[in-house]
Formats: sequence, structure tokens, C-alpha cells
Amino acid sequence: MRALPEAAEYVVVGGGTSGNVVAARLAEAGLDVLLLEAGPDFGPEGSAAWPADLLDATRLGRSHDWGYDSGDTYPWTVGFERARAIGGCSDVNGCTQTWGHRRDYDAWAESGLTGWSTDDLLPLFHEGTRRMRVHTYAAADLTPWQRAWYDAAPAAGMPCLDDLNDVDEAAGFAPESVNIQDGVRVNTAFAYLDPVRALPNLRIVGDALVDRVVVSGGRASGVVVRHGGAATTVRAGTVVLAGGAYNSPTVLLRSGIGPYAQLAALDVPLVQHLPGVGENLHDQPFLLMSWSGSEEMTAAMERARSAGWAPDEQAMGKVASSFDTEAFDLHFLPYSPTHLTGRKRWSVGVSALQPRSRGFVRLRSADPEAKPVIDHRFLADPEGADVAVLAEGAAILRELAAGLAPLVGAELHPGPETFARDALVAHLYRHPDNYWHPVGTCRMGVDGDPLAVVDERARVHGVDGLRVADCSIMPRIPRATTAMPAVVMGEKVARLLLEDR
Ligand SMILES: Cc1cc2nc3c(=O)[nH]c(=O)nc-3n(C[C@H](O)[C@H](O)[C@H](O)COP(=O)(O)OP(=O)(O)OC[C@H]3O[C@@H](n4cnc5c(N)ncnc54)[C@H](O)[C@@H]3O)c2cc1C
Repeated sequence: MRALPEAAEYVVVGGGTSGNVVAARLAEAGLDVLLLEAGPDFGPEGSAAWPADLLDATRLGRSHDWGYDSGDTYPWTVGFERARAIGGCSDVNGCTQTWGHRRDYDAWAESGLTGWSTDDLLPLFHEGTRRMRVHTYAAADLTPWQRAWYDAAPAAGMPCLDDLNDVDEAAGFAPESVNIQDGVRVNTAFAYLDPVRALPNLRIVGDALVDRVVVSGGRASGVVVRHGGAATTVRAGTVVLAGGAYNSPTVLLRSGIGPYAQLAALDVPLVQHLPGVGENLHDQPFLLMSWSGSEEMTAAMERARSAGWAPDEQAMGKVASSFDTEAFDLHFLPYSPTHLTGRKRWSVGVSALQPRSRGFVRLRSADPEAKPVIDHRFLADPEGADVAVLAEGAAILRELAAGLAPLVGAELHPGPETFARDALVAHLYRHPDNYWHPVGTCRMGVDGDPLAVVDERARVHGVDGLRVADCSIMPRIPRATTAMPAVVMGEKVARLLLEDR
């Protein structure tokens, strides 16, 4: 077990997707960096310690999860998977790398967040793409299930695109860009930490759960860490939180930084009243639709699998509902797990990318191992726009499926009993699901924004020496899956830290 140092100039909390980028960028600039990760550090790429499921890019990884779910906020349980290991969710995700649309980041900048426009961030997207070894499938690489949807898309008004990441392009279907090399999921530990692991000024400690930030005289001065069965205080010049959208707010709350009344109810001494901590939680509501398949499709997929590479995900559609006149607001994600049978074997996910509903993350107790309350309040917007967009997406997808009927077979889920719009809407309200892209719980905002947690330089309002650098600072989710945006959050905040020295 690696020992905890007594102090570091920069302590990065969370060796996940964004945190590894921050730690690596600071370390390569010669700064003294301690990276603390609650889960294990399996070492560099090629180390035998890496679990097979975290490397296998054909399907999602499942081990090393925080075990979060919707608890008792619904009559049923929705899993909110989050990886607990060096690499974070970049260890387990579907490897799809999307950037979103120009309007996403320009809207952040137009709200007063200087430096966060699309043109400001594009060089960082390109750099992240290079570092994560992203390549784009050709149409000829697609498995028969993926190819069927891609080929059918133009008839439903979605032109075939070469890739998904032209930020000025709207609707279309394209083979995915993925961070996969030789069948291995390239996580941010491989892409960013490995080149700097040998530096003496970078120390990486796994199995180190940060309980809270210590604040003295209005300035972050260290962190309390649970490691090796003990709670230890490590002194820090600057603390950078990168625990992700569920856990960066919980660290702040345990540190006494958050809504006064919530902290008082848990007997957490108040350090800084910030009502926005844990609020503004949003993810893109999701519906998995499935079909029976056909003998022809089954045989074609088995041939593809025995010939070699047949991952679950490979292509994606960007689709505009009637609610989005400037870009697109739906993803279609063909999903074809060859290891599964039954309902999920022949699927396409539909997701509404610009949700209006907002939920929250709150502490259940001040114990750092206690699961937080996570209530996404999916489809709760009073105008009913989120459910309407998702229902419209399902209807468009059904039209596309109708053109493919002999190949995809009959709809199994949500099934013919939801063909009427009212029945579909009722089904959606009864079965909320997530797209694994929680954001917004420590949102960036300008002075005067009562729910802002950090400013445009990722500095926590009212506490010096404390920044947040992960998906939690996004004020509003981009029209994207969030892996590459998470890398860009790390790249951007690292640059801000270096500029501000
Ligand atoms: C199953 C799944 C599939 C996905 N598929 C895709 C996809 O195909 N494409 C895509 O673009 N996006 C996908 N995503 C989403 C994407 O991977 C995440 O949005 C992104 O990786 C989040 O990055 P992050 O840095 O904000 O958080 P994380 O990567 O979760 O990093 C947070 C890190 O902090 C650590 N940590 C937390 N609390 C503490 C603490 N108190 N002390 C110490 N360490 C702590 C965690 O263990 C973790 O390592 C998927 C996500 C999941 C879960």
C-alpha cells in the first residue's frame, strides 16, 4: 500500500475521467501533485492488475461500482452506475466520444462564462481526442445491426454523416468515434497518467477516500482522507475536486460548504453557505426500445461475431424533435449485445439531450461511505417538455423501424400496448431511466447567480484555494455523451490553474 504524504502543493480528489487530466497536466508542468482515488490504482496499461471487464471495450464494464441508485425516490430502483477505480467512468463506459453542438458551449459563454465558448474549447476537444487515441469507424466496420439503422436513416430524414463531431452539423446518422485500441478501452489513466507516472513530483494513492476538505481562515488547507483504516489529514496548497457529478458535491457538503439548512440538519458545521451545492442535477432521460430480431439478423450477427470485432455500440443518430429548431435534441443509439438473449438483444436507445427537469444530490449522513440521496426528478418539468421530446423520439424511431421490419422484427419493448401516445407517455413516467451522464451539481455561474457553486475559473465561491474540475461544473448538459466533455473539463481547469499561478 502506498503511504500518504503529509502535504502536497496540489491535491486532486478523484482519479477519474477529469481528475487524471488535471493531475497529469499539473505534474507535467513540474508542480507537486498528489492524486487521491477512492478506488484501486491498478497501475499502468499492461499491468496484470487491471480487471478484464475494465479493459474489454466490446461491452460496458461492471466491476468497481459505487453502488448508487435511486433508493426510495421511486417505487422501483434505477441504477446510477459510477466507477470507483483509477480512470473513473472512463474505465467502464461505452467508449462513444461525442462533442455536442456549437450552441451548447456558446450558450455557456453567452451566460457570462468567459473562456467557455465553442471556439475556446475546440482545441481542447482535439487534444483530448488525440490523447484518448480516438478513431472513427467506417461504415464498412459496422455490425449488421448497427449497419441496418445507419443505412435506413436517410429515408427518415437523417443523412449519413462521416462522423458525429462536426459541431456545426445538425441531424444525421454516423459511425461512432471511439477510444478503443486493439480491443482495449483507453481510459484516462492510460492516456494521461501513464506518460507522467514516473515523475517524482506526482504521487498517486489509490484506496484513498476523501472525507472532506479542511478550510482554515476562508482557505482550503488540506483534506481528511480515509486510507489504510485510518483518517489522516493531508495539507494542501490547492485542492481540486474531481469526484464526478454525484461525489464532488458530497465532498463539499461534508466540508460544510452547501445549503445551510441541510448541513445544520446533519450537524455539519457551516463553512460557506452555498445553496447550489448538489442542486441542478440533470441527465438525459432515456428509453431503451427492443425488437424481436429475425433469423436473418441473428445469423448475420453471429457471422460478424465469429469473424472478429462485434462490440455492443458502434453507430449513433442525432435527431431533431419539433422542440429544437437550432440543432438536434435526441440521440438514437443502436445497441446489440451479442452475449445477451431476449428483450435487450436487439435494441436502440432513445435519449432526450436537453432536459429541463432538475434534481439534486444530498447527504444521507456525514459518513463518507454512506450513499447519498440521488433524485434526478426525471421528466418532472411542469411544462412536460422532457416527456414530449422523448415520446416524439420514440415515434420517429418506430417509423425508422417500420422500414426495417423484416430485419428487426416486432417491437417487444415498450411494446404494442404503448403505440398510442398517451400510453407511451404513461409508460415513460412509470419507467424513468438515465443515460449515465449526470452533470451540473456544482455548476459554474457568474456573480449574482444564487445557485452558482464555482466561477468561470472553477473556483468555489467564498473559499480560496478550492476548485472543482469535472462534469459537476457544467451549467447545462451539452448535446453530447459526456466522456470527452469530461476530458475537456479537466484540460480547461488545468490550464486555468497554470495561468493563475
Ligand atoms: C456505464 C456507463 C457508460 C457510459 N458510456 C458513455 C459513452 O459511451 N460515451 C460517453 O461519452 N460517456 C459515457 N458515459 C459517461 C462518462 O463516462 C462520464 O460522464 C464521465 O466519465 C464522467 O467523468 P467525471 O470525471 O466527471 O467522473 P468520474 O469519471 O466518475 O470520476 C470521478 C472519480 O472520483 C473518484 N471519487 C469520487 N469521490 C471520491 C472521494 N470522496 N475520494 C476520492 N475519490 C473519489 C471516483 O472513484 C472516480 O474515479 C458512461 C458512463 C457510465 C457509468
